[in-house]
Amino acid sequence: MEVVDDGMWNRVPMAPGPIDRKYFEAASQGKLIIQKCRRCENTQFPPKMLCVSCGEEPDWVETSGEGKIYTFTVVRRHGVEPFSTLVPFVLAMIDIPEGARFMGNITEIDIETVHVGQKVEAYSLRIDETMALPLWRPIQSS
Ligand SMILES: [Zn+2]
Repeated sequence: MEVVDDGMWNRVPMAPGPIDRKYFEAASQGKLIIQKCRRCENTQFPPKMLCVSCGEEPDWVETSGEGKIYTFTVVRRHGVEPFSTLVPFVLAMIDIPEGARFMGNITEIDIETVHVGQKVEAYSLRIDETMALPLWRPIQSS
């Protein structure tokens, strides 16, 4: 997955705990990762200390970084900067074939044609030297 560095991270300050930090660090290296249980093979996101299915400590696995829109909303008004300057924007839930559902922004998308089932790919926006935030954009059909 592409890591975009526009040099101007201006969203909320990011101070993730140790488990979430692995996710943002992987994104900084161009990888979209989820947890997979080493015992029961349950996949889960967002990350947790233990497998929600059996209680084992989960491993991390890299995904393809591609998924489909499960549902979405178009945010047209927002009272807080910097989001107020980004409207209208798409906030969606995205299902990936490896078995996890993400919530995130979809950028570079036409808000008039965005639809459930649309194929999207992850990319990440650099926060600092060690972390990046995964975002989503449409897969260009060729
Ligand atoms: Zn498990």
